[in-house]
Amino acid sequence: MRLRCRICGERAVARAGPGRRYLCARHYLEHFERRVAKTVEKYRLLRGVRRLLVAVSGGKDSVALLHVLHRLYRGRVELVGLTIDLGIEGYSTPQVEFARRNFEALGIDYRVVGLAEEYGFTIDLASRRRRLVRRPTCSVCGIVKRYVMNRIAIEVGADAIATGHNLDDLSLFTLMSIAQGRIDDLVKLVPRTEKMGALVPRIRPLALVSGKETLTYVVLLGAPFHHENCPHAPSDGLRPELSAMLERLEDRNLEFRKMMYTNIVSNLIPRISRPDDKAGTGTCTICGMPASGKICSFCRIRMRLTEHPKIGVE
Ligand SMILES: [Zn+2]
Ligand SMILES: [Zn+2]
Repeated sequence: MRLRCRICGERAVARAGPGRRYLCARHYLEHFERRVAKTVEKYRLLRGVRRLLVAVSGGKDSVALLHVLHRLYRGRVELVGLTIDLGIEGYSTPQVEFARRNFEALGIDYRVVGLAEEYGFTIDLASRRRRLVRRPTCSVCGIVKRYVMNRIAIEVGADAIATGHNLDDLSLFTLMSIAQGRIDDLVKLVPRTEKMGALVPRIRPLALVSGKETLTYVVLLGAPFHHENCPHAPSDGLRPELSAMLERLEDRNLEFRKMMYTNIVSNLIPRISRPDDKAGTGTCTICGMPASGKICSFCRIRMRLTEHPKIGVE
């Protein structure tokens, strides 16, 4: 028996929505785009945004993000692409290439920032010199990406930065932030962070779609994307365990992640009082970007990696 789209009767290629309806390719794409448009409306993600910097790693989520924004808002919001060459051997070069192919296919202006060329270090080096940097590699990578995104957003005059974080990522991060009592991190996991000093607002239009859904979307669109996982991503420990647990709950069709995330965003975070937001109020004495102390986290990392007498980019 061939499965048919519940809307038009064409051949079904995927199931979607709470009712797990069978849909054809065209109706799946429509369904996905409607979900994203609803998220954008619900959290007013594009309020006051005329130019938007879209951070694209080349993986499925950011590629889905670029395409969905282009299809939904082209003509209304000017998109500028950004991809960062993090200098991870065997991984970053194809990533940047996939990002570039998507920008060019859609005719979107873009910037490529090479960490090694611009700042004299790579994520591989940060990983080899973990002890010197005093931070886990994924944490360094997060700081680096946020810093470069913000700098480029200011340079190109973007009103906001869009990233491809999906519901899997955000539900996992919120759960971990709560479990570890990291309230300062939790409050930043909302679909839209507001402008603070020189910190450009960040938006997450894929906040309510899952990784499986973004994968289906890019595959059906036929958009090129990088399939590999980052070699620095931890394969065991709390994060993968929790992620697998959330995935199991989802398979039972409980929409647990969405319930948890939307409740935390709407009911919990607004009740957390924030007497002072440290980040974004000060200015780094070295680079002039927002900092909580005298020197921003990025400059501290860069100095530890490039000003040590014996090391540099190897
Ligand atoms: Zn159909
Ligand atoms: Zn700095």
